[in-house]
Amino acid sequence: MLTQHFSGRNLNRVKAHNLQAILMSLLHENQISRAGLAKRTSLSSATVTNLANELLAQGIITEIKPQATEIERKRAVGRPRRMLRLVPNARYALGVHIGVGLFRIALTNLHADIIDNRIVEFERATPAAEVLEKIALEIEDLLLEMAIDRSRILGIGVGASGLVNHDQGINVIAPRLGWNNIYIQAELQARLGFPVRVDNNVRAMAIAEAFFGAGRGAGVLAFVYGRIGVGAGFVVNGQVFRGSGAGAGEIGHTIVVPQGGQECRCGQNGCLETLVTEPVIIRRSVELAQQHPESLLAKYMENESAAAPSIETVFAAARDGDELTLKMLDDQICYLGIALANLVNVLNPGMILLGGVFAQGDDLVRPIASKVMRETAFSGLGDDVIIEPTSFGWRAGVVGAAALALMDFFYQTTETV
Ligand SMILES: [Zn+2]
Repeated sequence: MLTQHFSGRNLNRVKAHNLQAILMSLLHENQISRAGLAKRTSLSSATVTNLANELLAQGIITEIKPQATEIERKRAVGRPRRMLRLVPNARYALGVHIGVGLFRIALTNLHADIIDNRIVEFERATPAAEVLEKIALEIEDLLLEMAIDRSRILGIGVGASGLVNHDQGINVIAPRLGWNNIYIQAELQARLGFPVRVDNNVRAMAIAEAFFGAGRGAGVLAFVYGRIGVGAGFVVNGQVFRGSGAGAGEIGHTIVVPQGGQECRCGQNGCLETLVTEPVIIRRSVELAQQHPESLLAKYMENESAAAPSIETVFAAARDGDELTLKMLDDQICYLGIALANLVNVLNPGMILLGGVFAQGDDLVRPIASKVMRETAFSGLGDDVIIEPTSFGWRAGVVGAAALALMDFFYQTTETV
């Protein structure tokens, strides 16, 4: 059944809405005057002054003297306007990125800068309840070690893999962990006492980029992440797009080889995931090295002490000019380009950011993916799309998770101020 909501705004929400406008402006400007804030937010100067006073009293913003320019000094006209600035370390957020067999925790400030972070490995078969318990213990330990007052923690954001019910904070299905209907929000909230937000991990990365990274200012942003699987997240005009059933972004299961493609773990054949993930590229490289023992790739793999070759070895062989490896990467990555062209045709994004293994091999992946995308997208739709690697490197997961909690603060969706 289709439902459409037409809701009014009571006075509390009006205040929250105005605060959101002010906080978002402060996030985007290094420093801004009260008059500048009034202009930017279309609020009256009295409203700006009242809200700014509240934020000053809470230590969330500070007042600074502007650096007068040479011209202003010479003119020496009037009293310089006092500027307002966000105090990055006034509040903190915690980000938890749950991966396959490991989780990362980061403490960030209001700018999503990482203050401290930890990585904890766990057996893939560990029951979800135990993993959540480990996460809670690790967070308690981190807060104790950093000696941070709990009242300055805004909340916890959790990036989980697979399908996530964001409203209820449930990891509906995480196939690689074998998790079904895990109540992450309820569990961690009860255990730690902080507000908890849960979302799909790639969607969380898209949010981080849109508000704290390279995606700032992009009207329609797509973030495409590849590692063991491939997923995407979208932020459209400052709002995260989740789809009607939280499933938006399953780009890894778009079919790019309709006939004769390999079987995917989802049960279909020829999905993007069967062609461009890290394990697939490594597997193809091992086959190539066996067929061509004289190649640079085979030599590099021989020198590797680890049991399984790493993607870095494959990239190194390509960077050193191994033709076989370059050709193989061309062949595989062109499918990423096709998937991106389809994405461009449907969503018409201004910017696509690539993360995970795609960012790790950016110099090898992006030129091919972007060339194929531009060649195959409909009628020049791909020409102006900016494609870049993630601004956060390996941190994309935890920064994204922390961004879930930070957005509650900047968007004033809960009573955090
Ligand atoms: Zn699939």
